[in-house]
Amino acid sequence: MRRARAVKIHTAMGEVRGVETNKGDLFKSNCVVMASSVRPGLRLLLDRADLLPVRFSRRLDAMETSGSYYISYYSIPEDAARGLHPNIEVTGMNMSLPLAFSPDTFYMLIPSLIDPSSAPPGRHCLCLSLPCPAGYAMDRHGRNSCRISLEQIAVEKFPALRGKMTHLFDLGPGQLETISGNPGGAAYGWVQSPEQSGIRRLGIKTPITGLYLAGQWTMPGGGIAGVITSGRLCAQAILKDKAFVSVEPC
Ligand SMILES: Cc1cc2nc3c(=O)[nH]c(=O)nc-3n(C[C@H](O)[C@H](O)[C@H](O)COP(=O)(O)OP(=O)(O)OC[C@H]3O[C@@H](n4cnc5c(N)ncnc54)[C@H](O)[C@@H]3O)c2cc1C
Repeated sequence: MRRARAVKIHTAMGEVRGVETNKGDLFKSNCVVMASSVRPGLRLLLDRADLLPVRFSRRLDAMETSGSYYISYYSIPEDAARGLHPNIEVTGMNMSLPLAFSPDTFYMLIPSLIDPSSAPPGRHCLCLSLPCPAGYAMDRHGRNSCRISLEQIAVEKFPALRGKMTHLFDLGPGQLETISGNPGGAAYGWVQSPEQSGIRRLGIKTPITGLYLAGQWTMPGGGIAGVITSGRLCAQAILKDKAFVSVEPC
């Protein structure tokens, strides 16, 4: 159901039985896919968190969450993007940003150079994105200062942008967390390290029969390609396990 949030996963005899939403609906099913943040999902949504074996629970505790981003979006006229690339890494500059950590890189993305439908005719969509620690606290004042500093660096590096960037909105880790439910606004789920990627990430199947995982918190890893692959692996696992998947709205 669109715009509804799962608030409880029902089980019986160690098997999944369905999902309850914040709208009060209960969907009975012998197959549920959790495609959102796994640690709070399993700990808070399962009607019986004690169903998780101790070993699995310890593994969940040991997994390390990835970093987040500060992102600022702009509309720019077509001519300001002339000669620019869709994805530019701005690095090695003297970035004295008003932050409690010391970034040396940010990204300037112009997705409408690849997909013109992502901006109105005659305009481009530009995004400045700065990696920052998950959960890094940025109030409106902090976001404003960060935005102004990034804009200054961007126009110094690319003078055609001067006076052409119409600011639309910006998001820090807190806003990303609110939108996605990912703790601290984690951009890739768990840290993308060799220890937490591929078969070392959480598996598609959980210890609870019928409860599967998909998305960046599970194998093979975060990022668009990894998430698409996990969706395919999850669908294949379900088709292999279940001769018949029942879904019954009540
Ligand atoms: C700023 C930023 C830049 C990025 N740049 C890149 C990039 O350039 N290249 C790349 O490959 N990757 C990039 N990533 C990472 C990539 O976007 C993610 O890894 C990927 O989108 C995660 O997809 P997902 O479906 O697993 O999770 P999400 O996109 O987080 O989706 C989870 C969904 O679950 C919903 N949800 C949460 N809780 C509940 C609930 N209880 N009930 C119902 N729904 C719920 C959320 O609302 C959300 O819609 C970036 C991420 C960010 C934040």
